[in-house]
Amino acid sequence: MDLILRGATLPDGRTGIDIGIAGERIVAVEPRLQARAAREIDATGRLVTPPFVDAHFHMDATLSFGLPRVNRSGTLLEGIALWGELKPLLTQEAIAERALAYCDWAAARGLLAIRSHVDICDPRLLAVDALLEVRRRMKPYLDLQLVAFPQDGFHRSPGAVEQLERALDRGVDVVGGIPHFERTMAEGAASVRALCEIAARRGLPVDMHCDETDDPLSRHVETLAAETVRLGLQGRVTGSHLTSMHSMDNYYVSKLIPLMAEARLNVVANPLINITIQGRHDSYPKRRGMTRVPELMAAGLTVAFGQDCVMDPWYPLGSADMLEVAQMGLHVAQMTGQEAMRACFAAVTGNGARVLGLEGYGVAPGCFADLVVLQAADPVEAIRLRATRLHVVRRGRVIAETPPAVARLDLPGRPERVEFTRE
Ligand SMILES: [Zn+2]
Repeated sequence: MDLILRGATLPDGRTGIDIGIAGERIVAVEPRLQARAAREIDATGRLVTPPFVDAHFHMDATLSFGLPRVNRSGTLLEGIALWGELKPLLTQEAIAERALAYCDWAAARGLLAIRSHVDICDPRLLAVDALLEVRRRMKPYLDLQLVAFPQDGFHRSPGAVEQLERALDRGVDVVGGIPHFERTMAEGAASVRALCEIAARRGLPVDMHCDETDDPLSRHVETLAAETVRLGLQGRVTGSHLTSMHSMDNYYVSKLIPLMAEARLNVVANPLINITIQGRHDSYPKRRGMTRVPELMAAGLTVAFGQDCVMDPWYPLGSADMLEVAQMGLHVAQMTGQEAMRACFAAVTGNGARVLGLEGYGVAPGCFADLVVLQAADPVEAIRLRATRLHVVRRGRVIAETPPAVARLDLPGRPERVEFTRE
């Protein structure tokens, strides 16, 4: 074998497990593995997880914070205006350079699969070409999936219909949309229909920004679910954000969620962004605005958490840390029960992998040897500590390492070091 991780704790609770790796694959997952490897890593008592997955991101805008100016109000609308000011100044090289810098952060954080929306409302399709190149260059290290995203509206933005098809022709993986940003509710519904038909015709998945508003009557997710069933796209369609569901009438939601389950719709909530952007027109009480995560999970839907933004016109913070995302989601959804906290960890790992349709994801013989050793004993502690990624393994090779976070103390009669764990 080429690499063995010894004594690991797995996300499902098994402890003292050795993970044997040959080439790009995991070949053994068992206690006291009788084998030797060129390199062995002592993971005793450490949580070893498949990589973090970000099911919703905007890599064409990331790390552009401050260009050409900062978002003074911090609102969604000033962010969209600012992105409009920045777009004419963008170059393919600059977009690719920032995206690659972000991929370095992601690799260091054990975030090895990202679904990124890419704005196609630019006749030059600069961002599309830049991110296709980044996808190609990062392929050995990170799975990057691209969504053709008509930021300014599929019907509302002149040329978007043709540009979206052109982006798909160039190799973009997923059909995007933004129905709540079209001029009217009817036009939004028409865009959902048209985009789902494009996906059906091309055999592609769908992932739409859907109902990212506080309007309780914004109901494009209903259309998205109905079109999914009509076109036989069950399991291939994702609704991102769905924040209007937070504000919808409860009776209506009791009918909507079963329809979404029938369509086997995937859901992506973006806790960091939803909690800062939604409820901005409220005085007090202020709505949280995130979609109904525990209720959707209880109905059997796959719900993942996305990061959405890092240091861009919409959000000045973030650092490719999906445990920060899980922690925020846990708080906003009040998911502090034992099972619920584990579900928040799944929302940034296995559930995200299902949304992206990743092959060979997991800790089992035959899976890709893509693993992260965390300075934490279990998924709850990983979220609590936003644990250090001690070792990040991609296709059997250690691609990133961070020393353990340990504070040295000089307090007479007290321990010399703390790691913020119970021992
Ligand atoms: Zn988004």
